[in-house]
Amino acid sequence: MNLEELDKHYVLQTYGRNYTNFTHGKSSTLYDENGKDYIDFASGIGVNSVGHGNEKLVNAICAQASKIIHISNLQVIEPQVKLAQKISELYGQDVAIFFANSGAEANEGAIKLARKYGEVKFDSKKYKIITLENSFHGRTLATVKATGQDSFHPTCFAPYIEGFICTASVQEAIDAIDDETVAVMLELVQGEGGVEAFSKNEIQYLSSTLKEKNVLLIVDEVQTGIYRTGEFLASQVYGIKPDIITLAKGLGGGVPIGAVVTPHKDIFTAGDHGSTFGGNYLSTSAGLAVLGILEDLYKSNKLAETIEYFNAKLEKIASKYPQYFEKSSGIGLMRGLRAKDSETQGKIIKSCMNEGVIVLKAGRNTVRFLPSLTITNSEIDEGFIRLEKALESL
Ligand SMILES: *Cc1c(COP(=O)(O)O)cnc(C)c1O
Repeated sequence: MNLEELDKHYVLQTYGRNYTNFTHGKSSTLYDENGKDYIDFASGIGVNSVGHGNEKLVNAICAQASKIIHISNLQVIEPQVKLAQKISELYGQDVAIFFANSGAEANEGAIKLARKYGEVKFDSKKYKIITLENSFHGRTLATVKATGQDSFHPTCFAPYIEGFICTASVQEAIDAIDDETVAVMLELVQGEGGVEAFSKNEIQYLSSTLKEKNVLLIVDEVQTGIYRTGEFLASQVYGIKPDIITLAKGLGGGVPIGAVVTPHKDIFTAGDHGSTFGGNYLSTSAGLAVLGILEDLYKSNKLAETIEYFNAKLEKIASKYPQYFEKSSGIGLMRGLRAKDSETQGKIIKSCMNEGVIVLKAGRNTVRFLPSLTITNSEIDEGFIRLEKALESL
């Protein structure tokens, strides 16, 4: 059997897979088994924040792997403590962190933290979490229910976890608050839902209203976090200080890691939550290396320059091909081009792959761009040349 046949025989078919077999990568260029190269405008799904084969990250992983990969959370773990300190410093807030292994798991931790807050801080228990339409929070039974898209809730997986109230706008979310509401949970830029950013005004209004009403604000920064929108956290771009922030995708540069970040340090006590793998030596050493690389990139202004360079090219494409694209969206290096329908979206993504540039889908009809933050100008140039070829050949 060839690789595709083996995959179909031995791997549960939960993904609509492409069968290009990539063997290695360098920076934002990937190579398949036939030696063909591809410009990577996807970085996994916003995971390879420092590109492929990044020497500092690879060295950090190898050095740590040869010392200790894992012991357990019953023992203090030095790189875990240092990564927590680093996240707190880069955010500039006095927060503490719980480490998990994925975005969904980080959000599970956030939901548990909010529910316990709702138990211990009020006379009568608050537990409801208000969510937003078109959001995405993960695939576990709780986080998939928190996800504000009905297509994720087929009856075959019922019963789902209760206590999530989906609303269509920030104002509706505020209006839906009642005596049992403990939190509002949202993404500042909805990723999977179609790369749609909320406005700064409405988010600041939401944040101050929730503070007045003593309702927590949970911001899912699994996709927007780790410099994706130009600052360390999108919360900094929006000028808010949420009660809980979750991180994952870009944090480990490809090594699985998730994080729950909160100033509410006294809610969880020993035994409330845990993870076998979460925050182990390997993943937190990778996280430290990633944040070191990205902090330098940010401080040297190179990240801002890359964002400007990339987005100038993206806007040019958006205005040059109005027959395909309705508008551009997103912030920083989390960008979308909304195709006029889902058929066009599918054709563009496929044509891009043929021309050697990898882009993603989002929502019903958006072509999504999540390049690594270390992508070079010449890779950006080449990627957009290929994207144009892909559009010309439609
Ligand atoms: C990807 C994503 C998740 C889920 O992360 P997993 O690591 O796949 O569990 C949750 N929230 C947002 C905003 C995401 O983009």
